[in-house]
Amino acid sequence: MARILITSAIPYINGIKHLGNLVGSQLPADLFARYMRARGNEVMFICATDEHGTPAELAAAKAGQPVAEYCAEMHQVQAEIARGFRLSFDHFGRSSSPRNHALTQHFAGRLADNGLIREVSEKMIYSVDDGRFLPDRYVEGTCPNCGYDSARGDQCDNCTKQLDPADLINPRSTISGSTNLELRETKHLYLMQRSLRDKLEAWIDSKHDWPVLTTSIAKKWLNDGDGLQDRGITRDLHWGIPVKRGDQPWPGMEGKVFYVWFDAPIEYIAATAEWADANGLDDAAWQRWWRTDKGADDVTYYQFMGKDNVPFHTLSFPATILGSGEPWKLVDYLKSFNYLNYDGGQFSTSRGRGVFMDQALSILPSDYWRWWLLSHAPESSDAEFTWENFQSSVNKDLADVLGNLVSRVTKFATSKFGATVPAGGQFGAMETALIADLGARIREYESLMQAMEVRKAAAELRAIWVIGNEYLQAAAPWTVVKTDPEQAQAMIRLALNLIRVYAILSQPFIPDASAAMMAAMGSDDWTWPDDLPAAMRALEPGAAFSVPENLFRKITDEERAEWQARFAGVRT
Ligand SMILES: [Zn+2]
Repeated sequence: MARILITSAIPYINGIKHLGNLVGSQLPADLFARYMRARGNEVMFICATDEHGTPAELAAAKAGQPVAEYCAEMHQVQAEIARGFRLSFDHFGRSSSPRNHALTQHFAGRLADNGLIREVSEKMIYSVDDGRFLPDRYVEGTCPNCGYDSARGDQCDNCTKQLDPADLINPRSTISGSTNLELRETKHLYLMQRSLRDKLEAWIDSKHDWPVLTTSIAKKWLNDGDGLQDRGITRDLHWGIPVKRGDQPWPGMEGKVFYVWFDAPIEYIAATAEWADANGLDDAAWQRWWRTDKGADDVTYYQFMGKDNVPFHTLSFPATILGSGEPWKLVDYLKSFNYLNYDGGQFSTSRGRGVFMDQALSILPSDYWRWWLLSHAPESSDAEFTWENFQSSVNKDLADVLGNLVSRVTKFATSKFGATVPAGGQFGAMETALIADLGARIREYESLMQAMEVRKAAAELRAIWVIGNEYLQAAAPWTVVKTDPEQAQAMIRLALNLIRVYAILSQPFIPDASAAMMAAMGSDDWTWPDDLPAAMRALEPGAAFSVPENLFRKITDEERAEWQARFAGVRT
């Protein structure tokens, strides 16, 4: 039994995420966690909401709520949707938790003790009427290069010139519209990543088994242009983790908070501590996952994320860990994803374009979405959701191949032999051949799941369902029963066992349907079929089974057209 630590990139708090976000981290992480548990490993699967920063403050203001209340409410909403998609987190934490406050301050203190923090004085735009410093993208004005009147403080969208907020002509706050702005001196802490560059590069070079997508992004940030830059880790905001040096005040930093990108990945660790707290366990319980001096030296740590998050996970967060000089667990394997596009364009929150997680669950059960998203995961390149493809994949793979097999076998068995596993006959050559073929395919499926080859694993699972159908086509118990009912009983006994084995194999992808299949077989034995010939005889002759309710229904052309129109978004 291995010990497996899995973290999914943590979703930002302001609003409900779309299906592209889901398939970029949480869902494949869940697939892997479920598989690793099914194989008998000890798994810790962690996710959380990312709650700090200006967008959260602005979203709360828009909702007319205090930001802490807004975040608490949105955390509940996201947690409920995650349960709806059967995301099997051991803990779904909050980056605003007291645990994350303490750990973030601890890491900052360690980095300072090790000489890796420097203070920088800089001039930033301060909005007198808003009573706050404005991050670059919350300042707008006229572009000095092209005259466009809505250029942002970081870039002009019209001519693409990179800007500094001080360059803008007639700058104004995008929060209030106020033009009562001034440049004020402010002091910030910088993490001296340049000093850690060689250490980071050596660590990345030691990862021979990482995907090219991951290492190429990390290398680009290490080497392009002037190379890895020191990074500001504090902000002049109210909502966030107050800047402290460990548990001590940080002179000159009063009223400031840590930058959200500094504290968010630390929440992976803090959320594991939150898990221990929630379960009444002591610190040793979570430290044995994270501290190599406290039992984590046999842990293998996997991270899942979209490609846009790779730089922070290959450089910034490791810089925090390495720079602390403490024996915290570093990631062993990082699985990153490309983007999922929507029906010829992109998902858009502002335009309501595409399917969002709550909407998806309101029209179809989670297994339908899980199956499509995972079997089309954007691994080697960006992928695209189309309603035609979704309809075809659900109707063929789930309804025609898997659902039809379960329904046909259980209905036929009940009508001919009653609702118990028939005892007659022996497995013959066809059954032996099926078991051998199935065994080989299961070993291939295992190696693809272990390698986190999500699409290929889905294709292999589908092939496993298909050979069951092919066996039934060829064996034809519905014909054989007329001449050799004993042999037909053996075939049906095999087919019922096959349904149970399919439930076990399919559970990481489609947990609800798998549970329904297992329950229909009157079993609760989820033992992985390492010994397939034994697994294919696991259901005792005479044991009761039932016909499950329609496992999957087909999507009609009318529904497809209606949904396509409903989620097309407001064109602007
Ligand atoms: Zn411009």
